[in-house]
Amino acid sequence: MKNTKQCPKCSSKSVASVPNDRSSGGWIQIGMFRAVSARLIVCCDCGYAEQWVEDPASRATIRKRYLK
Ligand SMILES: [Zn+2]
Repeated sequence: MKNTKQCPKCSSKSVASVPNDRSSGGWIQIGMFRAVSARLIVCCDCGYAEQWVEDPASRATIRKRYLK
């Protein structure tokens, strides 16, 4: 959806890219006091949303913590 700019659920092209900040809620909690930011891609028609962790360092943290 991030790359196609089209919703995979309803095929809408009204796909918004919401930058990560605390008010948009684009955060993934990875510990009691730690969170990584994630860009939110939202379909404005059906509400489907997906999150993208764009920062490689944050992905490395998630990999270390959760990838088994
Ligand atoms: Zn949709």
